[in-house]
Amino acid sequence: MHETVIANKIIEQAKLAGASKAIQVEVGELAELTEEEIKTTLTQLSDWNITTIFRKSHVKCNCNYQGPAKIIDKGHGFCYFKCPSCNENPEVIKGGEIKIIGVE
Ligand SMILES: [Zn+2]
Repeated sequence: MHETVIANKIIEQAKLAGASKAIQVEVGELAELTEEEIKTTLTQLSDWNITTIFRKSHVKCNCNYQGPAKIIDKGHGFCYFKCPSCNENPEVIKGGEIKIIGVE
């Protein structure tokens, strides 16, 4: 299961960072899992308090567009997005990943 692989990686990293009771995770708008999916999976796989924070996307494109990406389709384990201005694949500056932002 895709979300289990991702959640296990987060748990490993959190343990290395010294997590013992709680972690805060930032979930980007363009990440392949939703905030809800990652929270549910982390809660199942650990006994920590899981807090998730949603991060809106910010992309940069060759056409000089900068701002939120246009999401074409997002489902279980994938997220397709484009530049809203020219429909090319922009570079993700923010909101493209799931990462730990704090541990307790
Ligand atoms: Zn563009």
